Amino acid sequence: MQILRNTYLSLGSNQGNKLDTLQKAINLIAEKIGNIVKISAIYKTASWGFKSDDFFNCCIQVTTGLNPENLLYKLQQIELLLGRNRTSKNGYQARTIDIDILLFENEIIFSKNLMVPHKEMLNRNFVM
Ligand code: AMP
Repeated sequence: MQILRNTYLSLGSNQGNKLDTLQKAINLIAEKIGNIVKISAIYKTASWGFKSDDFFNCCIQVTTGLNPENLLYKLQQIELLLGRNRTSKNGYQARTIDIDILLFENEIIFSKNLMVPHKEMLNRNFVM
């Protein structure tokens, strides 16, 4: 029997058809990652740290059998499928889709690729 664990994800889009991209991301998460338990409202958030279109953001609760590293890997694949273009540029930039892991059960993770709870979660109004 697979053990399912709760994770909370934040999603954001500020390019193209943002609403459609968020919906497609949620569909792909349901297909490749686990069961969608709850979906928040969609919040419009001004871009921060760089000048660009507003973001559409939401948060979702998901139960998954994946471990945190595989979850991150699959989320990055979904970002690529939806046209996320990771450039070598550092810092904030426009993106078709950004998916972050906010929480994973009550785990604290501090590895090369992953910091959970997400370091910015307390600074993001739409997450709170
Ligand atoms: P981003 O530009 O927001 O997609 O994040 C860039 C990098 O942040 C990714 O390559 C991840 O390895 C790293 N990262 C660290 N902690 C997290 C997290 N909690 N959720 C998502 N990405 C994370």
